[in-house]
Parts: sequence; C-alpha cells; structure tokens
Amino acid sequence: MRFDVVTLFPDLLQVWAGVGVTGRALNRGLASLQLWNPRDYTEDVHRTVDDRPYGGGPGMVMKVAPLRAALEAARAAASGSRVAYLSPQGRVLDQAAVGEIAAAPGWILIAGRYEGIDERLIERYVDEEWSIGDYVLSGGELAAMVVMDAVIRLLPGALGHEDSARQDSHVDGLLDCPHYTRPEVVEDLGVPPELLSGDHAAIRRWRLQQSLGRTWLRRPDLLERRGLSDAERALLDE
Ligand code: SAM
Repeated sequence: MRFDVVTLFPDLLQVWAGVGVTGRALNRGLASLQLWNPRDYTEDVHRTVDDRPYGGGPGMVMKVAPLRAALEAARAAASGSRVAYLSPQGRVLDQAAVGEIAAAPGWILIAGRYEGIDERLIERYVDEEWSIGDYVLSGGELAAMVVMDAVIRLLPGALGHEDSARQDSHVDGLLDCPHYTRPEVVEDLGVPPELLSGDHAAIRRWRLQQSLGRTWLRRPDLLERRGLSDAERALLDE
C-alpha cells in the first residue's frame, strides 16, 4: 500500500513514520510513505503557498499553483493512487470506511492549513474528502496520520499477532473487552477469575459478554445497528 502526503510540514509525519507498529510496517515495506511539500514547488523568492481570501475575511487560503504542482509530482510517482483531501467537511471516517480505504492500492492525501485550500483544487483534483471527526484541527497532518495509522495496522503482517486487529473495538461492531496483564493483583484489584481459569470457552464467553456489556453501556447506538450473530447467541447461551 502506498501513501503520498502533500503537506507543508513533512517533519511532523517523519517522526510518526519512524515509530511503533506503523514505523515497523513502513520499514518492512508493507506500506510506503512519500512526502511532497508545496513550498518546494513555488516559483517566487518568498516561496509563497498562501494568499488572502477573495471576498475578504480572516485567515489565508492555500493557493492552487504550488499545491497542484506538488500533487502532480505525487501523481506521476504514484499512478493508480486516488486523491483524498483531509477536511472537517468530509465524510466522517469509521472503522468500515478505514477498511474500504485499506482496499485501495494507494492514496495521495492532501493536508490543508490556514482556512483550507482553494476550492477549485478540490473540484478538479480531489476524489474524496475525509474528516476524522466533527471538530476543527489547525492542519490536515494529524488527520492524515490518523487515517494512515488506522489503515496500516489492518495490513497483513503489520501487527505482531494477526488476531489483534480482529479483536479491536469497532472491527466487529463492538467495543473491545477489558485487558489485564501481570501482576495478578494491583493494589486491591484482581483479575477476573474467568481469565485465569484456563477454560478457553469460558474465556471467549466472558470476553464476548464484556464486549456486549460495554457496548450496550457506552455505545448503545453501535449495538442497535449490529445485533447478535447466531454464533454469539450460542456462545452466550452455553
Ligand atoms: N475553514 C475550514 C472549515 O471550516 O472547513 C477549516 C480549516 S482548518 C483550520 C485547516 C485544515 O485542517 C483543513 O484544510 C484540513 O486539511 C484540516 N482539518 C481540520 N479539521 C479536520 C478534520 N476534522 N478532519 C480532517 N482534517 C481536518
């Protein structure tokens, strides 16, 4: 899977690209990341990437020319990739959307700054607009990292244990169950006895009950949409 990010702040992404699960995946070639700075595609001495908005008002707008030149360079290097603009006005992403994104061969992500980017660039060059939530960030870099992180951990081989991603919250429409590790007692808190029982069916049942209970308490909207599978019903009935 290939990611190209058009950003005024490539350094921000470089740090992320070097650490943790995503850093390892990039290192091992499961995914690749290339960064394109519109400032490198300016033609004036000040390397201008923004200008005042037509119609007046506060803030600046990212200009078309440097963005388009950076985007064209990325497109030449990443044929077959689609283009997404990170925007608070885009489709709000959830785990299902992340799965769809992961199925494409590659994405060129545009991270905006200031008041955003000139609308004509979106109109002409952007295939999709994605939001990471109904709030406003100062720039699209964090949003790009959020999306890439969520996608990369789904790629086969990215996680140490293949089941980890399958058990995570939202993957099967439920929140994850609680997790515990050694020591067995912390202050006066123990570990649920089912997890110490060695009985795999009891452990599976306990985890499912916890997932269902948590989802029901914290996110009843998820449960309403999802319901229960026959296998889950059977397990709960055991
Ligand atoms: N004026 C824009 C608006 O209200 O729609 C917001 C611009 S915001 C200050 C600057 C940049 O941050 C945007 O161009 C976008 O790339 C990014 N951004 C802000 N909030 C975001 C969100 N919720 N999801 C994805 N990107 C976001």
